[in-house]
Amino acid sequence: MAKRRIVIAGNWKMNFTPSEAEAFINEIKPMVKGKRKCDIVFCAPYVTIAAAQKAAKGTRIKIGAENVHYEEKGAFTGEVSAKMLTEIGVEYVIIGHSERRQYFGETDHTVNLRVKAALAAGMKVILCLGEVKEQRLSGITKEVVSMQTKLDLEGVSAEEMSRVIIAYEPVWAIGTGLTATPEQADETCGQIREALAEIYGKQIANATTIQYGGSMNEKNAAELLAKPNVDGGLIGGASLVAAKFNAIVDAAQI
Ligand code: PEP
Repeated sequence: MAKRRIVIAGNWKMNFTPSEAEAFINEIKPMVKGKRKCDIVFCAPYVTIAAAQKAAKGTRIKIGAENVHYEEKGAFTGEVSAKMLTEIGVEYVIIGHSERRQYFGETDHTVNLRVKAALAAGMKVILCLGEVKEQRLSGITKEVVSMQTKLDLEGVSAEEMSRVIIAYEPVWAIGTGLTATPEQADETCGQIREALAEIYGKQIANATTIQYGGSMNEKNAAELLAKPNVDGGLIGGASLVAAKFNAIVDAAQI
């Protein structure tokens, strides 16, 4: 089986001003130094990116964005293009986060457009998908995540898949303190991998990093990351506290 890259990524959401981000990166930098078994990314609000990048310079910490628009430029007030991000050295971008889907009307169609635009600009995408509580309770999680995988990646080439990370994020577990059990996380990440195999074949499916996200923290990370289909984490709340995030990075040094 292909060895997959483990990626521990923070999603700061609408937190951290530029000076707060700088202080956070300066605090965590020495903590994660030399911990090479995983890649470390923090996805930041647009206005905070430059300060975080400056503080992270010379380290392995990457600073990403939390969204990107699918058009190159034009009358899209409040949006930011992939070209704007790459010009300032942003490599990673989260697309399709459930908060974008829930509060800002994003659909699998707009998520797919954003994924394709980011990849065309040479970026690495962290594509978020996952079921809501009612879907899990009615036993259709596999169908939901398989469909999202297919729709969100429609038109993405096999070659581009080397720059796609999938974050399996059960919506009921995000910011709620509820976490999928390691077994649930492993099973659903495996189902996403099966969907990838149907589209791209086993080799690409086995090479794709699939993270778990949803109240991952310093206490539950080791158990979740020990599962064979869980290749890292996308972390919200615990990415705002250096000691907690560092403990998750430690749990990934296996
Ligand atoms: C997220 O925002 O992607 C997330 C997983 O948040 P939390 O860790 O706070 O549940």
